[in-house]
Parts: sequence; structure tokens; C-alpha cells
Amino acid sequence: MSSSDQPETENHPTDNQEPTTSNHALATRCVHAGQQPDPATGAVMTPIYQTSTFAQSAPGEHKGHEYARVSNPTRSALEGNLAALEGAEHGICFASGVAGIDAILKGGLRPGDHIVTTNDLYGGTFRLFKEVFEPFGLEFTFVDMTDADAVEQAIRPETELLWLETPTNPLLRVIDIARLCEMADSRDITTVVDNTFASPALQQPLDLGADLVLHSCTKYIGGHSDLIMGAVCTNSDEWADKLRFQIKSAGASPGPMDCFLALRGTKTLHLRMERHCQNGRAVAEFLSDHAKVGRVRYPGLPGDPYHELADKQMSGFGGMVSFSLADDSVEAGKRLLSGTSVFTLAESLGGVESLIDHPASMTHASIPAEGRRKAGLGDSLIRLSVGVEDEGDLLNDLDRALAKV
Ligand SMILES: *Cc1c(COP(=O)(O)O)cnc(C)c1O
Repeated sequence: MSSSDQPETENHPTDNQEPTTSNHALATRCVHAGQQPDPATGAVMTPIYQTSTFAQSAPGEHKGHEYARVSNPTRSALEGNLAALEGAEHGICFASGVAGIDAILKGGLRPGDHIVTTNDLYGGTFRLFKEVFEPFGLEFTFVDMTDADAVEQAIRPETELLWLETPTNPLLRVIDIARLCEMADSRDITTVVDNTFASPALQQPLDLGADLVLHSCTKYIGGHSDLIMGAVCTNSDEWADKLRFQIKSAGASPGPMDCFLALRGTKTLHLRMERHCQNGRAVAEFLSDHAKVGRVRYPGLPGDPYHELADKQMSGFGGMVSFSLADDSVEAGKRLLSGTSVFTLAESLGGVESLIDHPASMTHASIPAEGRRKAGLGDSLIRLSVGVEDEGDLLNDLDRALAKV
């Protein structure tokens, strides 16, 4: 039996984080954590180790990597970087965000287990829960998680997991992470926070009591809309072993080129998030004053119902803004979409470029119409991922498009 038949947390390269960066401020960790000059050549940037296997001097004797499904030095550098950004012992990267979610459920749960989650979940997560895991015997209750009493009432003896996503997608509601983690802790329930919308630059769920943090690195972490990837960060050795076992056994491993790109992305995460926050706020304020706009949802607006909580648990309000139109129809929403030119009509979010999305017909089309309405997703609802372009150009673009609605 080769050593690769067992999870190898004790010699995984990710776990040897350089002590030189773990105590540094976020900006320094963004640039340096997980990386050191390449031991073979001195290359300052971690190379793309484009190899499937690694030479062994004798069976089982190697320099930390055996086979690239299990680990690869470029991936290990990224995992060390992401772990440091979330203040975690372990970071584990996956081929996509949903592959990370899949690994958490398969690694930690068994048929009959029950999960409580939020009712305005990312559409792809909802589909995975309902259409893949429910038929395999996991049970889900979807509740408004901004209401802690509703969460408490949904908990059953067989509840194993609370799955939070905050701010929520696309309604930008804010869930009280610390409060729900405390509730879960006292019942021995694991808490996962999907931290994709905030990124570790604006929100650190492990500090607030979460057990696991999930990222779609496709979004702010990568930051340039040029890769698909996921990551899970945790302080639990047991969970890290379970997740690495999933990577090894089910093989949702990201390739080294994508890991290199994500690592390049995190070097500017703190700078990009600063500008996303600044532009997000400017766009939200502009829309709030516009006659053709209905309700604007942005936790950075002082009048937003979630402002106070967001201010408490986040260090910035991010670049996601959603709003309805005064004419709350699918047609009005579609007219707006066709009128922008700086904002590109596309799914996804978190890149340097601004994107515009119509959840009812795009990202959230997999949620049945009735479920959408129940969750408060109006027909005209528009979601913006505000990029890092010039603020004036963004406001002008929206102003021109709104004139045609
Ligand atoms: C995009 C996204 C995911 C899924 O990530 P992929 O990388 O697309 O698989 C999960 N959660 C949230 C909040 C997302 O925005």
C-alpha cells in the first residue's frame, strides 16, 4: 500500500506556511503568503508546474508531491495563500466553486443528514442541493437566514450543517454569521459560509465562528474573469483530511495554469476590493436617486436594512449592487440590459470589468418562478457586478441605459 492511500495532512506542503507572512497585514499576505522564490531556480513568481507526476528516489520517497491529481506545487502555493487570507490552517482548491461544495457534502455528510440553508442561495448551489444531493438522500430546508428564529425552528436532531451565503445572491441580504455559528456550535452542527461575494478582503467568517469557508475563486479571488476554480478554507484538520481525500478520490483538481492565474489575482485582491467598494457605493447612490429605479439593494447604503449588521461583520460593502425598476416587468429589465455598453451582459461577477445580469432569465433561471418570487426576486431585478473602471463612465453608462427603459 503506497503512502498515497492515506490522507497526508502531516507532510502536505500547504501546511508548512512561511512564518514570515502569517502575522502580516492582509495587503502583505495577498502579495506574499504561500510563496517563496522557487527553490530550484530562484524565480520570484511560483512557476506553473505543468506536470502530471513527480520523480521518486525510492518508492514513496519524494519531495512532497507524487501525482498532480493529489497535489502540485503551483496549487500548494495558492492554497497557502488563500489559507493565509482567510486566517485558516488549511486551504484546499477545487476545479470549480461547485466542486468545492460537492466535496464538502460528500466528504462530511451521509444519507439522512439534514442541512439548513438560505432561501436566496446562488442558483448553482441550489441546483446541486436539490437535483444532485436530494436524490441521494440528503435533506434540505431553505429558510430566510436573516431571521435567526426561523433557522432555529428549522434545525432537527439530524441537522449536520448550516450552509450560509452572505451577502446573499442576488438580493444582498446580510446574514448574522456570529449569531448562527453560536447557535450551530451549541448543537454540534458544522457551519459553512460561502464567502464568494465579500472575499477574504472584506469578511473573515472563521473569525466569526464558522468551521468552513467556501469560495468560488472564479469571482473576486481570480478577479479577471479568466478562470473557473473553487476553494475551501478551514482550521479543522479533520475537515481538511476529508476534503483532500475527496480531491484524491473524486479528482476535482484545478490545473496548474489556473492556479497560477488565481495566485496572480490574489496579489491585487486588496487593491481591487477597495475600488470595487468605492464604485459600488457610487453606483448604489446614483441609482437610489433615479426616478426609473425602484428599490436599490446595497448594504453600504445607510438606509439599507442590513447596513448595521454589514458594518459590524464586514470591513467594506463590496461591488455587488442589485435593484428593481419602477416598471417591475421582465420587458423593462430586458430593455435596460440592451442599453448598456460599459456594463457587459454576462453571468458571473467579481472581475475587473463591470457586468450586468438579469437573475430571472439568467443566473437564477434554474430556480422555479414561484420559488423566485417567494424569495423576493422580482421580474425586473437587475444585478450589477461593479468593476474597477472609471466611476463617471459607469454612472453615465447606466444613466443612458435607464433613459431608454
Ligand atoms: C459562482 C458562485 C458559486 C459557484 O462557483 P463556480 O466557480 O462557478 O463553480 C458558488 N457560490 C457563489 C456565491 C457564486 O457566486
